[in-house]
Amino acid sequence: MSTVLFHHDLGVVQGFLRFSRAVALLICAVALVVLAGWWCKRPLLTTMWPGQTAMTANAAVGFVLSGSSLLLSQHSSPRRSSFGRWLSLAVLAIGAVTLVEYLWMTDLGIDHMFGGPRTHGSGRWPGRMGEPVAAGLVLLGGLGLLLPVRRWLYLREGLAMGLLAIAMSGLASYSIALAGRNDMLFGRMPIHTALLLLLATLGWLSATPTLGLTRLATADTLGGVLARRLLLPALLLPAVFAFVFQLLQSRLGLPETLAFVLMALFSGGAVAGLVWWAANLFDKLERQRRESILLRNDAGTDILTGLANRRALDEVLACLLRSQREHDRMFSLLMLDLDCFKTFNDDFGHLAGDQVLRVTGHLLRAALRPADMAARYGGEEFVLLLPETDVAGGREVAARVLDAFRGFAWPYRAVTVSIGVAQSAFGDGAEDLIRRVDAALYDAKHAGRDQAVAAVALPTVAPSKT
Ligand code: GH3
Ligand code: MG
Ligand code: MG
Repeated sequence: MSTVLFHHDLGVVQGFLRFSRAVALLICAVALVVLAGWWCKRPLLTTMWPGQTAMTANAAVGFVLSGSSLLLSQHSSPRRSSFGRWLSLAVLAIGAVTLVEYLWMTDLGIDHMFGGPRTHGSGRWPGRMGEPVAAGLVLLGGLGLLLPVRRWLYLREGLAMGLLAIAMSGLASYSIALAGRNDMLFGRMPIHTALLLLLATLGWLSATPTLGLTRLATADTLGGVLARRLLLPALLLPAVFAFVFQLLQSRLGLPETLAFVLMALFSGGAVAGLVWWAANLFDKLERQRRESILLRNDAGTDILTGLANRRALDEVLACLLRSQREHDRMFSLLMLDLDCFKTFNDDFGHLAGDQVLRVTGHLLRAALRPADMAARYGGEEFVLLLPETDVAGGREVAARVLDAFRGFAWPYRAVTVSIGVAQSAFGDGAEDLIRRVDAALYDAKHAGRDQAVAAVALPTVAPSKT
């Protein structure tokens, strides 16, 4: 059921795919610029900002391969997308070799792959990437390899979460470093590496917008709107706060306690702002929903009695008749007419008569189950529809209604009602059923009023041909 009702906003889906392609191109472009910087010995191209840490050449190669794999993954040709998976495997291998080196073979470096020295930050092809970046490349490669395998969706999303954690920690650490401290967690992760890891993760997640984590963000529901608007700010805010916190301390010289208090205020305010925005959205939607329910109810409700009106009755009756025809589901229909109501009006006035009609609405509602329907058919005539109820059940309800009328403390004089009961039969149209129940009601009036008469029950299913 939920999958049938789950719709994606096609415009948003297209937007996610475009974002994924743009990210792939950007990653390739930035990483190629870094590689060109190493090749031509232009440090500024490898750091992007003067005085910052350079992106290592092997990490840049990993990004070029991952970006290309991301571009190829959206290609319809199976050969190209399978080539893309080989590229992702290579990304995974680059990260894995570095990790293995860190863990077991401290003498060997991935730098050999590029023919450079092993020391960090010097030479033509310098540096091994830091462990978090290597782990990030392993996860990026894994993302690319698992992209087309639906069975491994949860593993893929898990890898993406890990990547987000690495990229966000890198960004937060960098923020702290920017604010002037050296003891940050991922000291060796350059800012553009952290940003590319973050972008690459978002790019890979956006490559399959209708699956997994991004499925909600493309939904054309309130949840979809919330996810689209709130997720990115929620991801970035902690890094911004870490930066501001350090800045307050190191640059403005605020005491640590004061900086903590300010950050608590800021973060509380930011969370409250997000909640406020989401609450406003919920509130607006709920009010619209209530208005539309009111409008719908108004269109189907009789103003005087509060019961369903003729229009709503016709709709439900047509529905029940269809279900009788198609699924042999019988139902009963009761037609009620107040007794001697004309004289009541004559004796006590129409306003008193209207009051009786209102009370009738209350009594009928009280006598019914939630699945039943009470409607004002016209004037002082009412119809009760009782789904899945045979004529015997209809009689019981009629007896209950008669008792309710007899037991009520009417203000002017006792009011009674006559009731016709009929059960739906195979092949019935609305007119057939109304004609039968009308005849039964007529019999009830002629038998002295204040009673119920049931029409003879006809077969409810198609007669067998044998
Ligand atoms: P019977 O027992 O045979 O049904 O007699 P009756 O007088 O009730 O006859 P009938 O059912 O034909 O009565 C219809 C009367 O219902 C006519 C009209 O005065 C009254 N009536 C119809 N609609 C309204 C209404 O909205 N308000 C009021 N006060 N009276 C209504
Ligand atoms: Mg009448
Ligand atoms: Mg009447």
